[in-house]
Amino acid sequence: MDTIVSLCKRRGFIFQSSEIYGGTGSCWDYGPLGVELKNNVKRAWWRDNVQLRADMVGLDASILMHAAVWKASGHLDHFTDPMVDCKGCQRRFRADKLDEGEWVHYCPATKGNKFMMPAGEPCKHCGAHRTLCPACGKGELTDARQFNLMFKTFMGPVEDDAAVTYLRPETAQGIFVNFDNILQAMRLKLPFGIAQIGKAFRNEITPGNFTFRTREFEQMEIEYFVMPGTDEEWHQRWIDERFAWYQEYGLRKENIRLREHEKDELAHYAKRTADIEYLFPMGWSELEGIANRTDYDLKQHSQFSGKTLDYFDEETKERVVPYVIEPSAGADRSALAFLVDAYHAEEVRGEKRVVLRFHPELAPLKIAVLPLLKKNSQIVETAQKICNDLRKRWYAVYDDTASIGRLYRRQDEIGTPFCVTVDVQTVGDGKSPADGKVTIRDRDTMQQIRVTMTALEATTADLMVGKWSEVAKQFPAQATS
Ligand SMILES: [Zn+2]
Ligand SMILES: [Zn+2]
Repeated sequence: MDTIVSLCKRRGFIFQSSEIYGGTGSCWDYGPLGVELKNNVKRAWWRDNVQLRADMVGLDASILMHAAVWKASGHLDHFTDPMVDCKGCQRRFRADKLDEGEWVHYCPATKGNKFMMPAGEPCKHCGAHRTLCPACGKGELTDARQFNLMFKTFMGPVEDDAAVTYLRPETAQGIFVNFDNILQAMRLKLPFGIAQIGKAFRNEITPGNFTFRTREFEQMEIEYFVMPGTDEEWHQRWIDERFAWYQEYGLRKENIRLREHEKDELAHYAKRTADIEYLFPMGWSELEGIANRTDYDLKQHSQFSGKTLDYFDEETKERVVPYVIEPSAGADRSALAFLVDAYHAEEVRGEKRVVLRFHPELAPLKIAVLPLLKKNSQIVETAQKICNDLRKRWYAVYDDTASIGRLYRRQDEIGTPFCVTVDVQTVGDGKSPADGKVTIRDRDTMQQIRVTMTALEATTADLMVGKWSEVAKQFPAQATS
């Protein structure tokens, strides 16, 4: 993970939030390349799950909602973790995770010497187990009490209880409370789904592992409404589809798996839940949860709001409360998984090459246009013109700040799929006439082809959606670089 974190900072993917002030716990900022990567992940998800499907529509609900939403959803009463505080150093811990980290021990058997003890292990000298604060080793801990994970805030000019509200801890509730609006406005028939991408907030006590667990994060959620009785079949279909989606965009099969929730770990609303897990550097962790939430949410909101939230079935002439299947993914986790999976360090002709093998759809930059000689004004002008033309269709950049070998490595390291190089042959010189061709170099194979400038856009378009080997064989082979 350290390698990824340092690459992310060095190359402008992800920075620590408020770094010049010492940083904010578990908050991260997406830099110029990171925002492109995350936008590309969200765009691919939206296109595949909304625009390419006849049974899906989108929504962008507000983050601040009526406080009663969180009473109805159960978050106000149940969305809690058991917490203890240290009476000495005031640090706060999850009561159920106290013995999952190493602990500080001042050992009475060795004149009070300080030791760092491995998680859950007793002291070798005195046999003591941890009873005091694991961080300072001296303070006593309070009894456990429930701590709500929602961020509380106040709406309006007066900070009294009537104005209390919360930053949403999940985007799903915005969909449930708009169920009837959308059903009526869009004249939908079951089964149909509503998709939403947006920020959610959880005051996690132990965030960590870079952008994996943060207090502010972005969800990509679908609530897919179905006839009761067809819910189990639809649940399985969504599990299969979402599992395939990650592989379509490049996650390697051996790094992704499904994990079924045990009965005792199911949320209070869920009939069945399956997680898609990714093998992150810290181990297998959840990428997306796909739950069968039954009719729980619509019924709760109907009861608390007094509004009918159901569906009139034209065939049976009966009103039914639909069941809902919820594929809930994290945009930040997905972006991190795609980044981790794309990372490769290899040796090329005795030198280390770091390359991010992103799917072209997800790569932050699509094309870099590079002049072979930056002192030749014809080459430079031609390269800049090519770059401006390509920009209309893809995110392309022009770079002449180093030798060609270094420029290639820089683009490899940020995962740019293709480089286009303009050289003397392209523009001609005193000895030979211009051939009007440029070189396209492939990031993964480092192979090159020469194509005419007029065919550049069409060839690039083929390369973005096809296999390099298929497209490249139409052109004479060139040396790799
Ligand atoms: Zn303490
Ligand atoms: Zn001891």
